[in-house]
Amino acid sequence: ICAIDSKSTVSDTCASYATIDSLNNEIHPLLKSVTRGNDFFSYYRLNLYNKVCPFWEDENGLCGNIACAVNTIDSEEDLPPVWRIEELSKLEGPRAHHPGKQQQKERPSARPLQGDLGDNVGESCVLEYDDECDERDYCVPEDEGALAKGDYVSLIDNPERFTGYAGEGSHQVWDAIYRENCFVKPFSSPSSQLAPLHGMQIQAANDFRNVLQKEQPQPQPDDECLEKRVFYRVISGMHASISTHLCWEYLNQTTDEWGPNVQCYKDRLHNHPERISNLYFNYALVSRAVAKLHNYLQNYKFCSFDPEQDLATKQQVLTLTEKLHSRAPIFDEAVMFQDEHAMDLKEDFRNRFRNVSRLMDCVGCDKCRLWGKLQVNGYGTALKLLFDYDETEEVDNPPLRRTELVALMNTYARISNSIAAVHSFRQAVESGHEDR
Ligand code: FAD
Repeated sequence: ICAIDSKSTVSDTCASYATIDSLNNEIHPLLKSVTRGNDFFSYYRLNLYNKVCPFWEDENGLCGNIACAVNTIDSEEDLPPVWRIEELSKLEGPRAHHPGKQQQKERPSARPLQGDLGDNVGESCVLEYDDECDERDYCVPEDEGALAKGDYVSLIDNPERFTGYAGEGSHQVWDAIYRENCFVKPFSSPSSQLAPLHGMQIQAANDFRNVLQKEQPQPQPDDECLEKRVFYRVISGMHASISTHLCWEYLNQTTDEWGPNVQCYKDRLHNHPERISNLYFNYALVSRAVAKLHNYLQNYKFCSFDPEQDLATKQQVLTLTEKLHSRAPIFDEAVMFQDEHAMDLKEDFRNRFRNVSRLMDCVGCDKCRLWGKLQVNGYGTALKLLFDYDETEEVDNPPLRRTELVALMNTYARISNSIAAVHSFRQAVESGHEDR
């Protein structure tokens, strides 16, 4: 059905721009209500400040602009109950942890056993520790001590937009991310190009920084390997979405007003159609991942401690997944990881993506790091659902953490918003209204 070809167009997915635009017209308002209409999806827990960049010293790349700051929620009382450790800890128990590797071997199904916690309490209601990593994860786990405290943020109060973070610091991160696309032929060993560094090694990593700065240009994917192209397109599409948001909510420093900046759009996106194509590619990829969750979410408990809100959240989510599930798939993941090297290649792909997630701790702007971490987690979750999750079998599926589900939906909403913004920008360019 869907041929993935080597052309740098959206056709790598099988869906056309027009198909995606029309799907997005329907999906965009639904995603807005899912991500903004309830407590479950509009807050996020992450380790925002406590981790150091594992690859180089990042003190030179710090952003001092006020727009880079994040308002975290410091008091439990200001959090909705669904995110309160205090509430969730009450439910901590034998089923509170995701099954560890040993448990998974003993009990292959990683799906929650309804009933273990009482009929009205799902596994999603208990306190989750994100330090327990499943080997099928595409993101690195956050470390235990810091995560138990975690940083809580309202995604609505901290919108992704222009921050002024730029220059050497941000370029260094993007360069390192794109460099993860250098798969070594025939396929590299499991360890990725960037091995995380610890303690004293960080100092030595500054040499690495110099190497990065000298190496130009950024590696582009060749046509030989579908998986490499997909990796590149995911990263480039994420970059395009971030660029779209910063152009869409840009701060005019003369008037102090926020609004769309058409010139910013032209420079970063319009004059680089392949970047827009990669944004559409990500839309198709994430749509397919979310559609795969339709059955799983039928029994999901949203646990806001407010049954009315839970019901509303569930209805919003199921309306969305139903819409996606009932349409012909717009992305065919089954063509990937098929040849004789499939297992090695998949492991390599996963390791590289984990390194991208580690690189988020090198982003020197808090707001950018928040949205960078969230979106990398969202794409990581989408990749896990596409390549390691069987929607029909329901056995031996990898666990899905609450933070992953929240990241996935918000990442999808970001891409959807970007597609709508690109549409408006394009109209402005075509109609000659470029004065903003
Ligand atoms: P950059 O966007 O830094 O791009 C660097 C180089 O990458 C370009 O010269 C080009 O060669 C290549 N490139 C650019 N776009 C693509 C693409 N889509 N695909 C492939 N190659 C590409 N700034 C904000 O204002 N708000 C944010 O929320 C924000 N979030 C960020 C999150 C992360 C993880 C990072 C690393 C940076 C973030 N930034 C954010 C900074 C922003 O992305 C830019 O780095 C900054 O605006 C400087 O832009 P630039 O024009 O120099 O090019």
